[in-house]
Amino acid sequence: MRRKLVAGNWKMHGMKGDLPQVAEIAAAARANPDVDVALCVPFTLIEAAAGVGAGLPIGAQDLHENDKGAHTGCISAAMLTEIGATLTIVGHSERRGDQHETSHDAWAKSAAAHRGGLKVILCCGETDAERDAGRAERIVQSQIEKSLPDGASGDWLTIAYEPRWAIGTGKTPTLEDIAAIHAIARAKLRQMVGDAADGIRILYGGSVTGANAAAILAVDNVDGALVGGASLTAEKFVPIIEAAASLRQG
Ligand code: PEP
Repeated sequence: MRRKLVAGNWKMHGMKGDLPQVAEIAAAARANPDVDVALCVPFTLIEAAAGVGAGLPIGAQDLHENDKGAHTGCISAAMLTEIGATLTIVGHSERRGDQHETSHDAWAKSAAAHRGGLKVILCCGETDAERDAGRAERIVQSQIEKSLPDGASGDWLTIAYEPRWAIGTGKTPTLEDIAAIHAIARAKLRQMVGDAADGIRILYGGSVTGANAAAILAVDNVDGALVGGASLTAEKFVPIIEAAASLRQG
């Protein structure tokens, strides 16, 4: 049985004045022990968030694929773990879009994170043009194939399926479409890592809110959610954690 994981992605939001939100989210995580909760904040907030968020895993949103070196402006896995990060997002569609990152980059970064002791949320997902062209399933299969690092296991790796057109738009795929892609992703994982695929969580991400979380989280092979906008405040994020908890108990 895979435990549900509800992970927040604050993107380029969050200042020290927002730390009380982290503390409130951590309190909700402690109050719902049947659900795993994590929060990925900007680099500048990781240390302080780890300080106020007792028991709440704090993550980064990216890292460099090398362990050290002449890479101006970049950050390594060791730097992240030193300030209290225990996980990182890799291959988010905003990085694939804005920074032109490829699945090969995501593969190298996932491997670097694992080498450095970080857990990884590895993102995949099609654009609206790719979905309209009927290529969503093939794109997700191909992204997983190209970015899944060696030795992938549920102990340290989570996949997040995030259709790019659903991120921050208020649009979501139908539950049937989510089920279809998650089934395809599970099958691809099984083909690549055998029985270890059963332990790898596959999150859904893209406009998850307190209003739609229970329905999405109940879909087959949806093992949690990666949440952007609705993770920025405890008021919006806690209902998603509670939706996951109620399913777990139901
Ligand atoms: C995300 O940033 O990963 C995300 C899913 O954003 P949102 O929930 O705002 O769509």
